Amino acid sequence: MAEKQRIVIVGSSIAGVSAAEGARKQDAEADILLLSQEPFLPYYRLRICEVLDHPETAPQLTLHPPEWYDDLRLRRLQGTVTGVEPAASRVRLADGTCQEYSSLVICTGSQSFVPPIPGIQRPGVHTLWLMQNALELAKVIARSRSIIVIGGGLLGLEAAYHARRAGLQTTIIEKAPLLLANQLDEAGSALFCRRVQSLGIRVETGADILAVTGRDDAPESPARGVRLADGRCLEADMILVSIGVKANMGFLEGSGIRTERRILTDTCMQTNVPGIYAAGDVAQPDGYWFGLWPVSRQQGLVAGSNAAGGKAEFAMNIPPYMINTMETRVAVQGDKGLSEAPGYSLDISLDEERGHYRKLVYRNGILSGFMLVGDTSEFVKLQQAMGKPTASLVGA
Ligand SMILES: Cc1cc2nc3c(=O)[nH]c(=O)nc-3n(C[C@H](O)[C@H](O)[C@H](O)COP(=O)(O)OP(=O)(O)OC[C@H]3O[C@@H](n4cnc5c(N)ncnc54)[C@H](O)[C@@H]3O)c2cc1C
Repeated sequence: MAEKQRIVIVGSSIAGVSAAEGARKQDAEADILLLSQEPFLPYYRLRICEVLDHPETAPQLTLHPPEWYDDLRLRRLQGTVTGVEPAASRVRLADGTCQEYSSLVICTGSQSFVPPIPGIQRPGVHTLWLMQNALELAKVIARSRSIIVIGGGLLGLEAAYHARRAGLQTTIIEKAPLLLANQLDEAGSALFCRRVQSLGIRVETGADILAVTGRDDAPESPARGVRLADGRCLEADMILVSIGVKANMGFLEGSGIRTERRILTDTCMQTNVPGIYAAGDVAQPDGYWFGLWPVSRQQGLVAGSNAAGGKAEFAMNIPPYMINTMETRVAVQGDKGLSEAPGYSLDISLDEERGHYRKLVYRNGILSGFMLVGDTSEFVKLQQAMGKPTASLVGA
């Protein structure tokens, strides 16, 4: 009888759990081990901001109950991987033990990126990526009166929204001239920004932070606020840094696994080392990176299935951008219509009072992109019409 495969998965968030699912579907007998650094059952990371003003809801964010793992015969073990030794087919853990594998899936995701701004290491400056961060932040929020959120991307916006709901004076500082500058055009962003401000949140766009200031000059004194390049100083009891993420892959040093900013894989999610796969935020298949939950799930399923002997491939479709924050919604896909190239036409409507913005972009009469703020009820219809002529939308 052939020996059982031993599939070890490092990291058990959405990519890791999906890899385990994919592996089990492919091989009913394999021994599948999910290694997790976090002391919690895997949870919906994208919802952790809810914990900031309602810490008691943390258990409701669990992805699956313990029985789900038992039913799929997935073993879970808490531990931090500190090294990968392909020659010995094993990973090393921080407690000095090793786990052997016949194939390995690396799903170690991201951590918050902290820019090298003077004073950023002061106490009172926080980041938010893990449940543990959210629970700690909830306590700090409960005893604070004001917060500065550095970074106006999705995570920063969500955190700011929940801090405001907890009653804090909230300021978002964004370096770009617009909020959601990568997703929206000027009109859409301005409307969204007014929505944020209507909730009592102060927004500073185009603002460059020179330093995090302290209660006194000592570098270890608690953060008091930030100094901006235009000379202004803004004060707050606490600061949240949310300007992006970097991959968790320091433990790969010396393993021979090829990395750039992330782990390089092919579209089967295999690294340059046979039998070692990567998926989710830590992976970069064919040079692409999305940093999105559904993409991590898809890649995890593919990597897990292939680690168990399957032949799955990750389809590189650029997903739509959909967010539901600040009591409004934003849906964006494809071309933003910023160019005035020949053949372009735009269909734009703005309803300032209701906070609705709708922009359709056509190239040579074919729908090549759309942008919806406020009312996203047309999302599915527009998605289906992408790549089709204008007529496909008429009367739909
Ligand atoms: C507040 C917030 C809101 C978000 N909102 C959205 C959204 O609306 N839509 C969307 O698509 N995406 C959103 N995202 C992004 C989405 O959550 C990520 O793309 C997704 O979680 C990536 O999943 P992953 O499994 O690759 O990695 P991660 O979720 O980062 O998990 C990696 C896991 O690996 C563990 N790990 C790391 N190193 C080791 C090690 N050495 N040993 C053992 N374990 C290790 C970590 O502790 C962690 O548990 C949001 C993220 C956050 C934080």
